[in-house]
Amino acid sequence: MAALAADDPVRISAELEQQVIEWRRDLHQHPELSNREFRTAKVVAEHLRKLGLEVQTEVAHTGVVGILKGAKPGPVVALRADMDALPVTEKTDLPFKSTATAEYRGEEVGVMHACGHDMHVAMLMGAAEQLAALQNELAGTVMFIFQPAEEGAPKGEEGGAELMLEQGLFADLKPDAVFGIHVWSAGTTGHIGYRSGPLMASSDRFEINVKGRQTHGSRPWGGVDPIVTAAQIINNTQTIISRQVDITKAPAVVSFGIVEGGVRNNIIPDEVYLEGTIRNFDMDNRAQIFENLKTTAEHTAASSGAEAHVHIDEGYPVTINNPELTAQMLPTIEQVAGADKVKVNPLVTGAEDFSFYALEVPGLFVFLGITPEGQDPATAPSNHSPYFYADEDALKVGTELYVNWVFDYAED
Ligand SMILES: [Zn+2]
Ligand SMILES: [Zn+2]
Repeated sequence: MAALAADDPVRISAELEQQVIEWRRDLHQHPELSNREFRTAKVVAEHLRKLGLEVQTEVAHTGVVGILKGAKPGPVVALRADMDALPVTEKTDLPFKSTATAEYRGEEVGVMHACGHDMHVAMLMGAAEQLAALQNELAGTVMFIFQPAEEGAPKGEEGGAELMLEQGLFADLKPDAVFGIHVWSAGTTGHIGYRSGPLMASSDRFEINVKGRQTHGSRPWGGVDPIVTAAQIINNTQTIISRQVDITKAPAVVSFGIVEGGVRNNIIPDEVYLEGTIRNFDMDNRAQIFENLKTTAEHTAASSGAEAHVHIDEGYPVTINNPELTAQMLPTIEQVAGADKVKVNPLVTGAEDFSFYALEVPGLFVFLGITPEGQDPATAPSNHSPYFYADEDALKVGTELYVNWVFDYAED
């Protein structure tokens, strides 16, 4: 790509930027929950078809995949945007604020793009338009992944990146690299946070059923007390991170979020139910903590004559940025955003299902700041807040990042 020199990034026009803003506002007013992104998918598919791309719809329920073939041979680069919104009632006073509602877990709830996925979709639609316009100069193939259900499929359903891959997303056309962007309130508008290696944690839910034997509260020796046993399990579990895991490898967290048991003050119940979350930045540590949790719970319970049944519901893996790809594409990020606005990001204990793509092919996932200059990103309403606000000036940066990743990757 001699025509587009490395220090001369492709910029989008003011018209295209305006178009991206309009798409974003339309999507913001029509947010849809995970696996229900029907309208969003239609908007995306129509746009990609209009651009002349090969389009596949209904991938993993509502996913849309577009393929753009450049005029010259070259690598396959995948760009990903997630499409789903959240069961949050918007409390901003934006003129295009969402008033949408939907059914969630049997209840009517407000729906809002409180995680900024409307920004992601609009930016990737803009990138598709720009890249299609430069098709004659493009070397290789671009795969546009518009993914449903990043926030998690509804109970009893599958979805998201994992299901797209299961359905063969990379089977026929395996990308050489995959790129993703997440907007977030923790950064100033247009600033980029990147990190080589692990960036975001794995997220796994666990359940522990502690089975004792019910008896009168005045005669504990007549039964087996699952409440005291559950308390011991909760305490002993704290030694997994502090005593059993090699903390020089990576930090980790085990937290309990639900403790349920008992109906009356003077009845020792049959059973106590515990639920919690495990976060990791190292896939080996993750496997070890699963084992440690089972051992600790089962043996603690056995020492009291109770039983503990541990179930781990594996969620998203660690989001790992390929170090070579990160190093290779850092100059592009700095050219697009401005070197003074690009910083190494601290580890994030939240999780992302972009991680599934990055386990298959080299991946790079970055954060794009959306809190306006002059405001403190540390106190701005965070992603998932009903007051979440995304500065649209960031859309240009994100769109250009997608476009230039494609060109610069093909060039190297
Ligand atoms: Zn989110
Ligand atoms: Zn998100």
